[in-house]
Amino acid sequence: MMQTLSIDNNERLQLSPLTIPSRLLLGPGPSNAHPTVLQAMNTPPVGHLDPAFLALMDEIQSLLRYVWQTKNQWTIAISGTGSAAMEAAIANTIEPTDVVLIGVAGYFGNRLVEMASRYDADVRTITKPWGQVFSLDELRTALQTHRPAILALVHAETSTGARQPLEGVGELCREFGCLLLIDTVTSLGGVPLFLDEWGVDVAYSCSQKGLGCPPGASPLTLGPRAIEKLHRRQTKVANWYLDMTLLSKYWGEERTYHHTAPINLYYALREALRLIAEEGIENSWQRHQKNVEYLWERLENFGLSLHVDKQFRLPTLTTVRIPQGVDGKAVARQLLNEHNIEVGGGLGELAGQVWRVGLMGFNSRKESVDRLLEALQQVLH
Ligand code: PLP
Repeated sequence: MMQTLSIDNNERLQLSPLTIPSRLLLGPGPSNAHPTVLQAMNTPPVGHLDPAFLALMDEIQSLLRYVWQTKNQWTIAISGTGSAAMEAAIANTIEPTDVVLIGVAGYFGNRLVEMASRYDADVRTITKPWGQVFSLDELRTALQTHRPAILALVHAETSTGARQPLEGVGELCREFGCLLLIDTVTSLGGVPLFLDEWGVDVAYSCSQKGLGCPPGASPLTLGPRAIEKLHRRQTKVANWYLDMTLLSKYWGEERTYHHTAPINLYYALREALRLIAEEGIENSWQRHQKNVEYLWERLENFGLSLHVDKQFRLPTLTTVRIPQGVDGKAVARQLLNEHNIEVGGGLGELAGQVWRVGLMGFNSRKESVDRLLEALQQVLH
């Protein structure tokens, strides 16, 4: 007998159409997307196997190789945020019991540790105070001690604003027979990257920072040594959604359905990458460097000090020390509520000690710096 069911209307909100404040996003990400990126995202979706979409996927692959400076065939965008691409990098390279050595000098190094341990890796760490980076000698000693299958480093540690130099690390990894896995979430598009020159075997990133695109389509690349390790696996990749042996059949010649791609995000990513190609990646790097130097000068002239040594500072993310006696959270709140500007607070060890100011992608402009300093002057006077 059919039961008579009644509708519960408790959660039936009667809403007006969406209105969201317009913010200048100068935190650790997302950054504001370029207007034409948002326009591209508005294009009506086609099917994920439509020839027009498959052609767009090829373009994304090519442009990702360009911005990363790699020839890696297996260069794709993962459907998900940077953490999904991070997990894909780990899931596809780590086999249970592999020794994985992770450089931890901030929050995202710790996230790598957390993820790798969930894939049953034998995780070892080397650590540095937050804001510092590893020297080649330190890495050599650690490789000698731990003899890992994989060395994982964060190129741009978003929690500290430090840039881990990568020159020479790939050669070291070859000497010790391990893969080099690099987080480029806060560097791609804004910080020089030469993946092939530097011998990086696996890298991942996100769309919402230096590429100036909304979050959700995250670059991943696997070089020949990583693919070889993948093919030698005794066990299946422990994550179906992120398994590159399956995903490569959708991104490669077979074009086999795996999951429904977030079509509109790929439209946006394609446009963001197109804009970078139009500008030239080396010009994008220079623009980020020039604008961040202007930011540092203005902040220091204003009496604020910066957390990271100048030679290791990121052009995309600056950590600014909160002066004694100032309530950092209240300042950030005021910047948001009264000036529509978002800056980030400190994470982990640096919680309450720094603000994190991002100048990434479309937002790496002199006007962003001027607007922030004008607002800071009013809030901190
Ligand atoms: N790695 C680094 C260095 C990051 O800064 C972030 C996010 O800010 C992530 C990984 C994770 O990316 P998402 O937040 O897009 O998942």
